This record gives sequence, C-alpha cells and structure tokens, in this order.
Amino acid sequence: MSSRGVRHDSMRARNLAVVLATIHRSGPHTRAELAERTGLTKTTVSSLVADLIEAGVVSESGAVQKGERGRPGVAVSLSGRRVAALGLEINIDYLAACVVDLTRTVRLRRTRPADNRNSDPAAILDGLRVLAKEITAEAEAGGLRVIGAALAVPGTVEGEVLRSAPHLGWRDVRVPDLVDLPFEIDNEANLAALGELWFGSRESDFLYVSGEIGIGAGLVVDGAVFRGTYGLAGELGHVVVVPDGPACRCGGRGCLEVYAGQDTLLGALGSAGSAGSGGSADAADPAGAAGLVGSTGSVGELVARLEAGDPEAVRTCERAGHALGVALTSAVHLLDPGLIVLGGIYAPLYRWLEGPVSEGLGARLAQMRGTPPALVVSGTGPDAAVLGAAGSVIQRIIADPAQLLGL
Ligand SMILES: [Zn+2]
Repeated sequence: MSSRGVRHDSMRARNLAVVLATIHRSGPHTRAELAERTGLTKTTVSSLVADLIEAGVVSESGAVQKGERGRPGVAVSLSGRRVAALGLEINIDYLAACVVDLTRTVRLRRTRPADNRNSDPAAILDGLRVLAKEITAEAEAGGLRVIGAALAVPGTVEGEVLRSAPHLGWRDVRVPDLVDLPFEIDNEANLAALGELWFGSRESDFLYVSGEIGIGAGLVVDGAVFRGTYGLAGELGHVVVVPDGPACRCGGRGCLEVYAGQDTLLGALGSAGSAGSGGSADAADPAGAAGLVGSTGSVGELVARLEAGDPEAVRTCERAGHALGVALTSAVHLLDPGLIVLGGIYAPLYRWLEGPVSEGLGARLAQMRGTPPALVVSGTGPDAAVLGAAGSVIQRIIADPAQLLGL
C-alpha cells in the first residue's frame, strides 16, 4: 500500500514497529517486559506505547502482571476497538466485503450475489464502490476507523491494472481507488492463501488450493506468499491433466479446470443422465469431463445431492478428485509442500474429494517419498480471499504503525 506522502521519523517509526510487532507476536506485555524484550530503554518504550495508544493500535488491557522486582505493571495489548481494514472481493458470481479489526476479528461481512461473467468493468466496480461505502459507514458508525482497503480479483494483477481475468471477460482494466483510503489490488488465490494463513489453518508453510470457477493455488513459505517473477505463480487450474483432453478457455487442452472447476462440478446438477459414460474412463479422457461444462445450481445444491447419494453428483466429484490428485502430484514434485489445504468450494465438497485426491497422491508419490503431504480442509472456505484482502491491510499497519500517526 502506498503511504501517500507520509514522512516518517525513521528511527521512531522503526521502534514503534518493533514494539507493536512484539505485542502482536507474543501477546500482552508490561512496559518493563517490552523494554527487556526489545532492548530499548523504559523511557523510550513508555513514549512509544503512548504513541501506539494514541494511534488506537494498542490499549492498556487492565490486566495487572508482576513486573520486575515484584512491582506490578499494566499489560499493553493489541486493540481491536478502533483501527480496522476493509477487504473487498470480485468473484465471478458475487461481490463481497468485510471489515476486520486489528486483532483479526471479523466485524462485518457482506455478500451480494451477481453474475459477473463477461461483464462491464465500470458497472461492477461501481457496484463494489457502493458496497464498500455502505460497509465502511456501518463500521465507522460502530466506532471503528477504517484505514485501508484491498481488493481480491480473479485474475492477474500488475500494479493497479487487472491484466487478465478470463472468467470476467476483462483485459487490462485499470482499477480506480474504490474508497478514499490507501487501496491495492491482488490476485484472489494469493489473498486466499494469506486469508488461510491468518484466519484459518495458521500454519506457516502450505500449498493452498482455491477451488472456484477458476482454480488457483498459493504457496505460503515462512508466512509469505510466493508470487513468481510476474506474480503468476499458482495457476494450478491450467496444469495439464490430460494432454489431449477437452479444450480449456486458456487455449490449452485437458487442464485441471476442465475437470475440477466449479462449472464442471455444478454441471452435474443439470446433466444427470446426459454426462456421458458414468465414470468408465478411457485413456484420452480418464477423468470423463467431456460434456460436463456449464454451471447450473449452487454448491449447496450439489452438497445436498451428494448427501443423498446422487450417483451423477458422486461420480463428478470423484472425477474432479482424481484430476486434482494428478495435478497436485506435479505440484508436490515441483514444490515439496508438507501440507495441502483445499479451499474455496472444495471446502464444502471436501468429504467427497478427500478420498480420490489422497489416493491419487499416495499412489503416485509412494515411490519417491515415504509419506505424501498432509491434506486438510480450509478453515476459511469461500471467505478466504476477502479475509486475506483485509488481513493484508492489517499486516501493513502492524509492520508500520507510524503511518497512522503521520510521522
Ligand atoms: Zn487451461
């Protein structure tokens, strides 16, 4: 996020960040403990804490802890009462917004169903601007100060330009600041991976798989997302599962998305009896996805069908799981993650996907490694990207609280 002309007293700004990071990382501390942990003098720490209280990022929690030489001290902790961040998301079939406070508690959450395929960017961005204004006003009426916003988009991003979002039908769209706040945009799979890191599994290393209409992946290493040279790392949906399989909208053939994307999975709802061979896989199309294109119904309906044991729904999920197992085997060989998190629509479908995915990974990786990576369901599900967007703003405040003080 740009700090927009804010000039920092660099030493003081750095010390504010050190003190806040200590509280963020290891919980409430007295001023004496903070001095001990940071190596700063008690006078300096007291003055820094006063600034952080003024900025609204910490508060005296009232808990009296035993200080050094038995003297009591008041603990200072991260405050969720004032500073907050706005997360926004343009999905293919909805717009979403959330407000998250500094303790990463979700304070407000709104979703507007919409059909954003092949849409007019200006109209969608206007709709999102209205949603952002409404939720910000509501947060501020509740006493929060929203200090920044980030937007998750289903496409590749360069600066403030959305280069390509094939499912939206957008190319080279310059996204204006939707709110009168520091504002940034990022790819939804990257932000979803960070959302999972901060709000879900909270492990520091994993491969996050975002099952949506497109399928993205975010590799989290040591608590940060690996983006690749051009920010395009993690286009798992276009990893080839079957070289001469059905055409994919990326121009290639037999991509994972054709077999395990949301359109194919929901296609099972409208295609009972017409979706081909009922799993009798052949060499050219082992996942049997041909004919399963075209989204109808909702993920909720699909789950209901699966729970009722609908054979077409079960077969479609199994095919998707097998294809996912094949694509993830390549990802594991390339990246060697210890943990794979299935998110997005794969979270509600996890019960039916887990078996075929694990089987595929286990069978293909057994010779190369003792145990395949652990497979878990996302703790954030479809909310991961919008939470990750707000979380990335929170992360920047914690890294540089001086921006709130205009230092
Ligand atoms: Zn493709």
